[in-house]
Amino acid sequence: MDCNCFDPQWPADELLMRYQYIADFFIAVAYFSIPMELVYFVQKSAVFPYRWVLVQFGAFIILCGATHLINLWTSTTHTRTVAIVMTIAKVFTAAVSCATAAMLVHIIPDLLSVKTRELFLKNKAAELDREMGLIRTQEETGRYVRMLTHEIRSTLDRHTILKTTLVELGRALGLEECALWMPTRTGLELQLSYTLHHQNPVGFTVPTQLPVINQVFSTNRAVKISPNSPVARLRPAEKYMPGEVVAVRVPLLHLSNFQINDWPELSTKRYALMVLMLPSDSARQWHVHELELVEVVADQVAVALSHAAILEESMRARDLLMEQNVALDLARREAEMAVRARNDFLSVMNHEMRTPMHAIIALSSLLQESELTLEQRLMVETILKSSNLLATLINDVLDLSRLEDGSLQLDVGTFNLHALFREVLNLIKPIAYVKKLFVTLSLSSDLPEFAIGDEKRLMQILLNVVGNAVKFSKEGSVSISAVAAKPESLKDPPKLFPVQSENHFYLRVQVKDTGSGISPQDIPKLFCKFAENQTLATKNSGGTGLGLAICKRFVNLMEGHIWIESEGLGKGSTAIFIVKLGIPGRSNESKLPFMPRLPANHMPMAFKGLKVLVMDDNGFSRMVTKSLLVHLGCDVTTVGSGDECLRVLSQEHKVIFMDVRIPGIDCYEVAVKIHEKFGKRHDRPLIVAVTGNTDRVTKDNCLRVGMDGVILKPVSVDKMRSVLSELLEHGVVRQSQ
Ligand code: ADP
Repeated sequence: MDCNCFDPQWPADELLMRYQYIADFFIAVAYFSIPMELVYFVQKSAVFPYRWVLVQFGAFIILCGATHLINLWTSTTHTRTVAIVMTIAKVFTAAVSCATAAMLVHIIPDLLSVKTRELFLKNKAAELDREMGLIRTQEETGRYVRMLTHEIRSTLDRHTILKTTLVELGRALGLEECALWMPTRTGLELQLSYTLHHQNPVGFTVPTQLPVINQVFSTNRAVKISPNSPVARLRPAEKYMPGEVVAVRVPLLHLSNFQINDWPELSTKRYALMVLMLPSDSARQWHVHELELVEVVADQVAVALSHAAILEESMRARDLLMEQNVALDLARREAEMAVRARNDFLSVMNHEMRTPMHAIIALSSLLQESELTLEQRLMVETILKSSNLLATLINDVLDLSRLEDGSLQLDVGTFNLHALFREVLNLIKPIAYVKKLFVTLSLSSDLPEFAIGDEKRLMQILLNVVGNAVKFSKEGSVSISAVAAKPESLKDPPKLFPVQSENHFYLRVQVKDTGSGISPQDIPKLFCKFAENQTLATKNSGGTGLGLAICKRFVNLMEGHIWIESEGLGKGSTAIFIVKLGIPGRSNESKLPFMPRLPANHMPMAFKGLKVLVMDDNGFSRMVTKSLLVHLGCDVTTVGSGDECLRVLSQEHKVIFMDVRIPGIDCYEVAVKIHEKFGKRHDRPLIVAVTGNTDRVTKDNCLRVGMDGVILKPVSVDKMRSVLSELLEHGVVRQSQ
């Protein structure tokens, strides 16, 4: 086989072998370098998946490379064709492998930089995610803040705030359960007070000293707690996996903690515990932004609760005030009722006492006008005087009570001032005569003859003061003087500050006596009511101690002043009073009341045939009024009820005397019906109320329903006579008599 012809072949084969040898070497180099490059790549790219596959692949290539390396030593000669094919194949393999290895060296940095970018992007995305979470947290926080603020504004009710917070949190975070544990009164326990799904959780308590509670209370962050801890056991133990639970403290800021400086470090802070549970059997976990939201909401709830506490406190204060107001109102009403009851009692007594008095005075005045011996006449006059005194006393008691509750009003009208003084003098003279006292009256020339004011009350003051002077003087004199006071003289000592006007003047009356006098220390007490004001010297004088107290109140009503001066016991005294009176204008004078004073016995039958109807339920009183009228010549019909009155009444009756205090009968209604019956006809009977009520309301009511006059019981013959005269002459009784 070794021939020359074959010689050129051997180098060629050798050449082929050589080529193969070289190719094997390069293939091996490529096979070893590629896995190294791959290992490098795998190491550098942390996120590359399928690492093991790469490692396996690397091992496979290394082994392939190793076989080629082994080939370097184990290569044997093959047939030429095989050698050519193998050579070509190996050369290609070597070229491709090396090209791949070279390519990998080239592209790995690129690949790695792509991976780096991917990593960077991933990081960026995570960051963005966090930022989004933050923004969402802020948004949701804002929403909760708004919601809670709105809740506070709209309800300001602690329970609603808490309940709404739980409901809203539950909804926003998709919670399975959410609960609030409130500290008990002692602070040693927490009580389950609100939950999302249980309407009225009751009686569940846990001690505050539990480590899990201490852990939550020690920080203002939301803390993840074990779903098995006592505060998280909000539902009965069930088989499924409990969801993740977080708890956060809710500071309870009390009203007294609102001293802003002390706020950050409150020494005795108390907390409620809010527990939030994710749905069970879900892989959901708490996100950081969710925990932040819970923390913010917990703070908001704390603020809301403190607002509610303030409101509750102020509501409590308001309730307390209202209770006090109710109590006060009750007390006031009771007091008013007591006053009303007293007034009613007084007015009933007044009326009831006046009825028998009416009989006594009417009948004695009738008796007085009959033929009597001197002795009998004296006796009748005494009866009359005593009865009149009694009537005055009844008036006084009633007046005083009205003065005290402010219901007494002056009955203002025009009257003859001079006549009033003369009348007082006439009334007082008989007693003074008996006591051998000298009484004088001096009216200054500038004193207006007519004045506007309450004539009766003025007379009462005057009678009381003059009466006292006569009563407390055993001998000597009593002088009465009246002047129109100069405005300058009023400022000192009574300290009145008169307003000058053409329409009024100040009447100054001075009553001076030479009686028992008053010691200086007694003077200030004189105007107190009842026996408090009686001086030692006059203790047993038989007075009631009411007179001056009433006078003072009347004088005050008349914008005046009353006082008493005395130089001491036994040195007499001077009572002075000043009252404001109106001056009637020209137009008023024509309307001056007509006061007929018909002398007794002169015209006993002056009203002969005058048909009069008397309506009074009290038979006795009816008889008395009838006797008076019969004595004056009237033709009298009597009735005991309103119905009877309306039935009997005809146009022949000129006057009806109607007792306005008939029980069960509304006299005002009877009066109205009479008006309806007669319309505007001129023959309507005149209606006169006879009443024991001295108050203005009764009088006003009578006049309002169209009565033509009001007369006060008791009624004497004289009084009845003047009333009838006035009625016939003017059609009305102008003054209440
Ligand atoms: P009384 O009904 O007791 O007279 P008053 O209120 O009119 O009641 O008088 C009170 C007291 O003032 C009298 O009890 C008396 O002590 C004293 N007093 C009043 N006026 C005089 C007077 N002119 N002289 C002496 N004492 C008088």
